Amino acid sequence: MSDKYQSFTNSAIGKIVAKNLGLPQPTKLERYAAGDPLVQGTVLTGGRGRVADELAGLLDVLGIASVGVRTEGERYKGLVFDATGITSAADLVTLQEFFTPVLRSLEKCARVLVIGTPPEEVEGGERVAQRALEGFTRSLGKEIGKGGTVQLAYVADGYEGSLLSTLGFYLSPKSAYVSGQVVRVGAHGETKADAAAGLDWSRPLAGKVAFVTGASRGIGEEIARVLHRDGATIVGLDVPQASDSLIRVMNELEGDWLTLDITAPDAPQRIAQHLKDKHGGVDIVVHNAGVTLDKKLANQTPERFGTVLRINLEAPERITAELLAQKAVRPNGRIVGVASIAGIAGNLGQTSYAASKAGVIGFVDSLTEELATSGAGITVNAVAPGFIITQMTAAVPFATREVGQRLNAMAQGGLPVDVAETIAWYAHPASTAVNGNVVRVCGQMMLGA
Ligand code: NAD
Repeated sequence: MSDKYQSFTNSAIGKIVAKNLGLPQPTKLERYAAGDPLVQGTVLTGGRGRVADELAGLLDVLGIASVGVRTEGERYKGLVFDATGITSAADLVTLQEFFTPVLRSLEKCARVLVIGTPPEEVEGGERVAQRALEGFTRSLGKEIGKGGTVQLAYVADGYEGSLLSTLGFYLSPKSAYVSGQVVRVGAHGETKADAAAGLDWSRPLAGKVAFVTGASRGIGEEIARVLHRDGATIVGLDVPQASDSLIRVMNELEGDWLTLDITAPDAPQRIAQHLKDKHGGVDIVVHNAGVTLDKKLANQTPERFGTVLRINLEAPERITAELLAQKAVRPNGRIVGVASIAGIAGNLGQTSYAASKAGVIGFVDSLTEELATSGAGITVNAVAPGFIITQMTAAVPFATREVGQRLNAMAQGGLPVDVAETIAWYAHPASTAVNGNVVRVCGQMMLGA
């Protein structure tokens, strides 16, 4: 499954045609390969606040070269601006002063990260100014071009050292198709990350068990591959009809498998039993299995509507409740939901699907505080993919598919690996304070923006 339009516009003749007709020319995005350094170039840091003093040290732990002063003629692969010192609307101009002179000196697929204070933690003019950062970063994301991305991380006071895994994700090609996102680190009183302590950064999930539903193909297969690359033992699940391909993938990853329908009444108990008996518990739970049964509501049947909700929403709720009740999720565990841009923006013919995926966001909200204050270091987050090129989207009619792929700041569809890398960031042992987030993996899609 490939993007034929992008291949064409990247050919010599295609470049000329696209330029003359004013058609979008998607940049070939850089993606991470095992063994690569996180950043192939230099990161320029700026701004003044709580994070600035620690930033060079954190980047150093990640093996990322950084400088604090811009040199004329120098090109940069990334920019990090500490905006936690911005306490009034008048201070916001420091953003323009830092960014304008350097934006033309960025390399292709550059990464920009602005770090602020969660607005709800401060009052008055500071709260106003910190909220303003969202508009700034989301707009810059639409301007940066050439495969660049722009994000905002709100880090709570005292959680500066917990930014490590977020810096590693947002500054590297692992976040190739993630842009215009706002995340919170430590905003709910989470356990602080014991940042660099004894971690093998090339295999951060070594010794961990990751359970992935819908793992026989598409996004789920790629999630399994990326978590395995990072060192985890994979337990993949899929329906019995998909057992051949599930077993093939799991054999390749030296993993374990379970074939059952997650909507079966005894599915949560069977899953919990399997994970406890064979693996002594689980560290990472990824609720990826999902279906669409699209129809306009006027033509909908209770069977189709109900099936989508049972698979996409009720099953993750029931499985999670059982795993937590049986204490099968180990300390510093991770629960990850797979929502969708449709759950944020809505979509024609997708009332059931969008309800289920908005429900996944509600599922994250409902568990965030409880897990943050439980002291076990367990987090819950979700990804909301936009247009990802898989068998699910290959079934979409050509014209709708073509428009769907171009309606984002990167003018292209994402790959399953882009969703998987985002989940690997949530799963990282240093992401203990990354909790309660829903990150869109959508190339900054215009819908629901
Ligand atoms: P896919 O259809 O290729 O894979 C889904 C997998 O889930 C399949 O292997 C299927 O057998 C399994 N599954 C379905 N029902 C199940 C059940 N009852 N029990 C156990 N397993 C079941 O789809 P995909 O494109 O890889 O999507 C994966 C997830 O990402 C889904 O939750 C989907 O809604 C979400 N998503 C995908 C896109 C996209 O563009 N592809 C966009 C947004 C969200």
